[in-house]
Amino acid sequence: MKVDRVKPGEGIESAYLWHIVKGLGVTVGHTVRQLVGSQPVQTKEYPEVRKEMPEGYRGKHRLLQKESGDPKCTACMMCATVCPAACIHIEAGEHPDPKVEKFPVSFDIDLLKCVFCGMCVEACPVDAIRMDSGVYTFADFQRDDFVVHKDELLRTPSQWSDPV
Ligand code: SF4
Ligand code: SF4
Repeated sequence: MKVDRVKPGEGIESAYLWHIVKGLGVTVGHTVRQLVGSQPVQTKEYPEVRKEMPEGYRGKHRLLQKESGDPKCTACMMCATVCPAACIHIEAGEHPDPKVEKFPVSFDIDLLKCVFCGMCVEACPVDAIRMDSGVYTFADFQRDDFVVHKDELLRTPSQWSDPV
C-alpha cells in the first residue's frame, strides 16, 4: 500500500519555529486574559483548593445516619452481594430493640479493590450508602490503610451541603 508522506515545510516552517511561536501565543493569550479577569482562572491551588466534582461523580463512599445517629444500614448484604470486586465486608448484628432491623457491627470497604462502579449504591434498598463525598484522591503508606471502616464511612460528609 502506498503511503503519502508529509512533505517537510520550507523556510521558517521547516524549523517549526512558527508552530512554537503560535503555541506560545495561545499560552500568553490565556495568561493575560486570566490576569485581567476576562477569563476565569483554570488552575487550582491544589491541594489547598480542590475541584468540586460534578453531580453523579462516584467518589469515596459514605454511610448515612438516621436522625438518632445510628447507621441507616440494615446489614442486608445487598451491596456486598452485588459488588463485582467483592470488596465490601459486613458483619451483621442483632439490635437489642426488636423493632429495629439488623445493623452493621462492622462495615469495611477495601478501596484498593473497589472499581467505583456504583453498584453498591444502586443496590441499597434504604439509601444507606452513597458515593457523593467528592473525595477522589487516596494516598497512604500501607495497603491496610486503604480499607475504610464503619466509623470513617459514617463520618465522611457529602460534597454538597444539601445532597439530593
Ligand atoms: S463501587 Fe462497585 S466495586 Fe466499589 S464497593 Fe461499590 S459495588 Fe463494589
Ligand atoms: S448499605 Fe444498604 S445494601 Fe449495603 S448492607 Fe447496608 S442496607 Fe444493605
